[in-house]
Amino acid sequence: MTRTILPGSTIGVLGSGQLGRMFAIAARRMGYRVHTFSPDDDTPTGQVADWETQAAYDDLDAVRAFAEGVDVITFEFENIPAETVEQAERFAPVRPGGSVLYTTQNRLREKTFLSGSGFPVVPFRAVSSREELQAAAAELGTPAVLKTAGWGYDGKGQVRIDSLEQVPDAWSTLKTDAVLEAFVDFECEVSVIVARGFDGELADYGVIGNDHQNHILDVSVAPADLPGDLGREASRIARAVVEALDVVGVLCVEFFVTRAGTLLINELAPRPHNSGHLTFDAAVTSQFEQQLRAVCGLSLGEPELLRPAAMANLLGDLWFQGTPDWSAACRFPQVKLHLYGKEQARPGRKMGHLTALAGDPRTAADLVREARRALAARATKT
Ligand code: AMP
Repeated sequence: MTRTILPGSTIGVLGSGQLGRMFAIAARRMGYRVHTFSPDDDTPTGQVADWETQAAYDDLDAVRAFAEGVDVITFEFENIPAETVEQAERFAPVRPGGSVLYTTQNRLREKTFLSGSGFPVVPFRAVSSREELQAAAAELGTPAVLKTAGWGYDGKGQVRIDSLEQVPDAWSTLKTDAVLEAFVDFECEVSVIVARGFDGELADYGVIGNDHQNHILDVSVAPADLPGDLGREASRIARAVVEALDVVGVLCVEFFVTRAGTLLINELAPRPHNSGHLTFDAAVTSQFEQQLRAVCGLSLGEPELLRPAAMANLLGDLWFQGTPDWSAACRFPQVKLHLYGKEQARPGRKMGHLTALAGDPRTAADLVREARRALAARATKT
């Protein structure tokens, strides 16, 4: 049993991106201090944290000094090396624990865990050679998607295979331990964000609908409208996954909804998720505050949405014609602007997002897209 970590204490965050930034804002609002650790400096998280350590994840002396100075450690992205987490765990509690990271930072381990525990996943095969890929593609059929087992996100490290003739090219593109998945001709993509407290308490945000562009999340809308009992079923599965993994913190379960009306888990993220950014403005308790409460051993907050909401990502591509005119977004009184403090706008890089609140989800989605178009249209040359 670990004591409750109360306001005034220091939370360590491994990673320093926008998720850590929004977590730090939630933590500081409640009177906690925040120390972030990553190889970079002047980071989205560091800009709002109390302290920022710039060191390599494999600098175990720096990890020790960081861990000794904080009361609990959490993370904002899962690709933290296992030895970093093991070192940190010697000096401070890490929540969720290293075993959760170990399972979820590798697609093969994650899918093996999920299917072994009876959860519905996209049919997959492990492949580590061209011959294995050939056999797996013949077995699963095409189209299929080849994904690196480790270190992939936002569609990075993925190759679509449309016919068996494409196998040699696909293999030479990745040439690493990988997972071959059946291609899912899905109806839509949804996610459920669920929190689990230190005492096992659960709270979820219901179903969020997600549209992707070029494998990157584009727009999320909540609540999502799913037929029949599918929404309840998605929540039930997400709650069962968070328990099976023994997570203390927040977990996002991404699903494909198939045309046959079934749910298949695409992937897990053991942390706040891009599709939950709208909870920052729209929910009684945001996913970031929920993570804070969970890792500090506090009771969870009410996840209920105060209003239907939609979120649109602002990618670096928006800067193509110059800096967007932020005042254009502020002319929409129901729209909230979030920027992550990143200097360099690159194509596909998540620079910020907009959240719109409205009387119904469709209006919120229309509004957030309109506000984003207004930004792009008014972009000025720099
Ligand atoms: P991932 O990084 O695996 O979440 O993939 C990013 C996006 O690519 C997903 O949100 C889907 O839009 C698409 N995608 C990934 N895997 C599949 C699949 N097996 N079938 C169809 N679309 C996929």
